[in-house]
Amino acid sequence: MAKVIVDKDKCIGCGACTATCPTVFEFDDDGLAKVVKDEINDDVKMAAECCPTEAIEIKEEN
Ligand code: SF4
Repeated sequence: MAKVIVDKDKCIGCGACTATCPTVFEFDDDGLAKVVKDEINDDVKMAAECCPTEAIEIKEEN
């Protein structure tokens, strides 16, 4: 199992993740990103790599 997490303390609401992978990331009411679907795919990994503040964490759980 894996889990995608956005650390809202780090997120600056730049929109890179929501543009890269809109099925998993959306803006919350506070203007910061949130995870709407717990799915790991190449777009999610790219969004995590592209996040300027490294707010996206992908946790691999066994
Ligand atoms: S790419 Fe990072 S900083 Fe930008 S909205 Fe997504 S989580 Fe926030």
